[in-house]
Order: sequence, then C-alpha cells, then structure tokens
Amino acid sequence: MPNAAMTACAAVMMLATGEALADNAPSADSPYLALPYTPSLDVASMDRSVDACEDLYTYACGGWQKNNPIPSDQSVWGVYSKLHADNQHFLWGILEVTAELNAERTPTQQKIGDYFAACLDLDAIERSGSAPLAADLARIDAFADKRALGAWVGELHARTASSGMLFGAGVEQDARDANRVIAAIHAGGLGLPDRDYYVKDDAKSMATRERYRTHVAKMFELLGTDQLAAHNDAAIVMRIETALAKASLTRVEQRDPYKIFHRQTLAALQKMAPAFDWPAYFSAVGLNPQPWLNLAQPAFIKELNAQISGESLSDLKTYLRWTLIDASASYLSKNIVDEDFAFYSAYLRGVQTDQPRWKKCVTWVDRDLSEALGKEFVAHAFPAAMKAKTLLMTTQIEAAMQRRIERLDWMRPATKKEALAKLAQIRNKIGYPDLWRDYSSLIILRGDFFGNVTRAISFESQRQAAKIGQPVDRGEWQMSAPTVNAYYDAQMNDVNFPAGVLMPPLYDPKMDDAPNYGNTAGTIGHELTHAFDDQGRQFDGDGNLRNWWAVRDAANFENRAQCIRNQYSNYVIVDDIKINGALTSGEDIADLGGELIAWMAWQEQTRSMQLAAADDLSPPQRFFVGFAQWACANQRPETLRVNAIVDPHSPPRDRINGVVTNMPEFAQAFHCKPGQALVKPPEKMCKIW
Ligand SMILES: [Zn+2]
Repeated sequence: MPNAAMTACAAVMMLATGEALADNAPSADSPYLALPYTPSLDVASMDRSVDACEDLYTYACGGWQKNNPIPSDQSVWGVYSKLHADNQHFLWGILEVTAELNAERTPTQQKIGDYFAACLDLDAIERSGSAPLAADLARIDAFADKRALGAWVGELHARTASSGMLFGAGVEQDARDANRVIAAIHAGGLGLPDRDYYVKDDAKSMATRERYRTHVAKMFELLGTDQLAAHNDAAIVMRIETALAKASLTRVEQRDPYKIFHRQTLAALQKMAPAFDWPAYFSAVGLNPQPWLNLAQPAFIKELNAQISGESLSDLKTYLRWTLIDASASYLSKNIVDEDFAFYSAYLRGVQTDQPRWKKCVTWVDRDLSEALGKEFVAHAFPAAMKAKTLLMTTQIEAAMQRRIERLDWMRPATKKEALAKLAQIRNKIGYPDLWRDYSSLIILRGDFFGNVTRAISFESQRQAAKIGQPVDRGEWQMSAPTVNAYYDAQMNDVNFPAGVLMPPLYDPKMDDAPNYGNTAGTIGHELTHAFDDQGRQFDGDGNLRNWWAVRDAANFENRAQCIRNQYSNYVIVDDIKINGALTSGEDIADLGGELIAWMAWQEQTRSMQLAAADDLSPPQRFFVGFAQWACANQRPETLRVNAIVDPHSPPRDRINGVVTNMPEFAQAFHCKPGQALVKPPEKMCKIW
C-alpha cells in the first residue's frame, strides 16, 4: 500500500516581510535568493472582527485570505503553497548557478544545472514539436498483432511512469511481509482524475466528460489527425476508459488495505488475463514478478482483458496513441502544452494562466533529480538547529501519544500492549536522507530536454525495480527535502518530515512555543496518529497487515471513527457538494489526534514556565491561532470540486474548525459559551485518542 497518509506544512532563511517574491530571475549579485520570513503566528493574518468561538478559521486566517488572492497560475493559494512557491524561487537561484557552463560544478551539480538549462531551452523544444513521439507513434501504427502490445506497453511504462496506459505497475512491500518487496499491478488507464468522472450522471459530470472528449480530439488533431477522424478517435478513447473506470474501485474502497491486496503468481495473472502477454510485459518493464506479485484490483484486470480481447486492434491503437501523447504533453511544443493546460488546469481546476517556464523546470528537477537538488537546498537553507528542535518535538509528541494510549478507557490491556509496541517501533525521519542518492549512471544532456526526462524516468523505474529481492531500505525518502509536506508510511512504520515543512511560517525558531506547538507539533502529531487511524491501525509495528485488535476494542475504535465521519459529512465543500466523510476519515482522525497530543506535549514542555500573553492573545489562544494559521488558504471553486472527489483531506476551514469543536481546551481558551458554533456539548464530542 503506497503511503496511507500525507499532511502538509513550511519556511526558511529570513527576510523582513511575508511578501511573495516576484517572478524576477535571481541575479548575479544574489544567486541564492533569501527566503522571505513570515512568523508562525502572524497577527496581520487574523480577522479579529470575527468571534473565534463561531469560526476560528476566519478569526485566524481572515486577514490572510484578504491579503493573498490566488495568483493567476495557481489552483490554490495557502500558507503551504506560498511557502512552496518561496522554496521554488530559492531553488531557482541554486539552479541558475549550477546551470552556468563556466562555473565550478561537481558532477551532480552539473546534472541539475544541465537538466534545468535544457528545460529552459524553449527554442529547441519548439523546433522538435511532436517529433519526440514520432518513433513510438510509428511503432503503434506497425502493430499487426495484439500480442505485441505486452512488450511495448512494458517499455513505455518504464520510460513514462504513466499509469494512464491501460494500467499501472510498480513495486511495493508485501502487505503480509513488509521485509519483502514485490511487483504490483494497479488499476489505471484513465485520462480524467478519477473513475467517478466516468460513472456519475449529474449534469456537471456529463459536461466535464463532453469537454474531455473535445480535448482528446484536439490533441489528436495536433498530432495531424483530421477533424472528423479525431472526433471518432475521441469516442473510442472514451469508450475504453469508461469500461476501465467502471471496473475500478472507488477511492473509499481503496482505503481498505484488504481490498487492494491479492497475492498471485504470474501464472495466475496470465490465466486471469490471457489476452495480454504478461511475461513479455514484465521483461520489458524490468520488473521481476517472482515469487509472486500483488494484483491490487483483480476485477479491473479482468476488465482489462475483456477490453484487449474485445476491442479491435485498430481501436486499441487509437487508445494507445492517446495515452502516449497525454503522458508526454507537458514536455512537447507550445501548442500541445497549451491544449493540455486548457483542459487539465484551466477547465478542471480554474487556473487562469500557465506557470512560467522556470517554475515548471524547477518542479521537474525536483522530481527527476530530487536528492541532487535536495542536497543543495539543505546545505543552504536548513540549519542543524532546526533539525534538533524538530527531533525534540517529535520525541515529546511520541511520549504524549504513549500517555494517551496508556490512559484510554475504551481499549483493553492486550490491545494497548500491541499499540504501545507499534508506537515504540516508529522511525523518525527529519529533514533529509542520511545518504544521498547516486545519480552517476544517469545521462543528462544540454539541448535534449525530452531525452533527459525519459532517461530520468527510466533511471527511477530501474531503481525501483532493483528493490525486488533486496532488503528493504528503511532510510529511503518518498518526498524531496524542499517539499512542503510530510507523511506517515504504514509499511515502513515511519514518520517523515522534509526540511521544507520545518521552516517559518510553520516552524518558527523566533516565536514562542505556543504557536509552534499548535502548528508544527500538531503536524508531527498528525503524522504519528496516521499509524493509528482507521487505515494505519490495520498494520502492526513491523509494517505487516495483521489484525492486532481485540474484537471489542476494534468495535470501540470504529464507533469513535464513525462519530468523526458523521461530523465531517455535514460540512459543505462547494455548492451542494459535501465532504465524503468515508474518504477523509483517516485525515480527519489524524487532524484531531495530532492536535490533542500536540496540546499535551506543549503542556508538558511549558509546565514549569511562566507563560506570557502577547499580541492580546493568551498562551492557549496563541496555541490555537498558531494551529489554525498553517491552513490559511484561498481555493478556486473548480479546484474544490476536483478535491471533493480526489483529495482525502477535508478543506482547510473544516480541518481547523472541525478539530476544535472536539477540544474542550479550545472553548476554555476563548471563553466560548454553550450554543456557539464551535461548542459541542461534551457528550457529543468525538474522541479517539
Ligand atoms: Zn495526513
């Protein structure tokens, strides 16, 4: 199971204000742009005309929302995304320096610099047009037999990493034996963001499908197909994708680790889906399917087989042509990039203008050479003191969680013993990896952007494939160091906090403890709680899918989780769309549990201190405003609609207000009265940990 859980956070070196950096290129005078400083509790972001007991989120974030309209190239704009943008700007400075041909560069700096320079070379990219696809398109044309698809799809998967071509593949830890890495086949093959887009029949979903069909047709036209044929081709794509979507599990179903784990042999797979040449596929993609593999969604694989055997070779070729261009669109010439943007960003998410080229290039270096760039970032932006303080907070949070578990009145001793053992086994990973990845075998060439992307993705595919049969690398990170986010991995049983999420305005060494514990300790607590949310709790301390819960304790947990699902399912996301509490319950549970243990850790940390009020806020009020301000954000309604389907997190307002209604400490801090919006009677409060 890939990462049960992700939250977010962020800030770095300090300037004077919280102004967003302009899109000015770094100059020779200041190659490394300093990161702007915003405090982790910012009174200018508040709106004190609002009563915190009615709406803590607007009380803490109303000023921020007013002062930070969404930039035209962004789909959301929040404290996290702003810090992400600042980090990108900082990385731009690093990449400008390493792209200098006559600068003194280590071989690794040379790779990130040359990748960046090739990415910025729009003239060369424009001259190539769709030519980088020509050889693959010709091969599709030449297929005379469906058996040939296996080897070709394998090769394409290895160098595009796309799960949009028929299905997805990769490696994962065996759910029953976390020490073993095996190959896995996942559902995939879709161009829209989720299977729901193909099966819902409300007016908006139908309109989106119609617009998607137009987009697919336009892309075919850009490859040289005439208008009428392109229209027909789009209908073929839609037909095949709809069939695959219908056979795919919903996101809620996929939250059940038992529903997505089906250990099978290659022979069983070949029997289940004989129309596809699986041995040729595995050989070409470079994955060893021995001794067994995970067929995450068997019903999907059966439908895949039905499509391959039932559709004509000619129509399958049409579908494959589409998946090829869709996977590569971002790296091709402007007409293709623009059409891709018009559908996926403008129509689906409401974004007004495409990102400037440098931002895309920074994003791709961060993806394709993540640890080469991350190493530079850490060297310039993450002092050792920040790492030390965060590590201290993490151990405090774990101690608080231990006390919580020990005192639970609904869990019996045998289950508690298992829970405490799991807690003790969690690994803490802070800032960046101990060992940086070696990219020496990856060839990066100036002037060959498309080739660089392809080689980098192939390098990563091979690196992943090589894990099969080898001991699990517990030190590996799944996020790059500058990333403004964090995660818990249930099979590794580790919490991971990249440097990017441990900086102001998230963790702020200049600020008093209260907002820092409300904010960063809350994030650490959130990730830790994922080990015990409705999904994470099904894994044991070794990372194995194993039920360690006494029946009555599991029922108690589920009742309490249901209280949270019911609460969040009443919140409106946009228009008439409400939160799907079954989708967001893992995150909602982690938000609440995380903040409760952050509160405990803060109390413990400051027990013998005389705390002072500041900014007309008492220390407990500063804790809660600090908590709320990580989530300050503006979101486009179009993006909210997409998120309602694909995002396991509730919207920011509900992640804040939803938590504090279940914390008596909040009502007490703000002297709230019964009957106010964020005050629940104690017997109605949801509580797990
Ligand atoms: Zn999370």
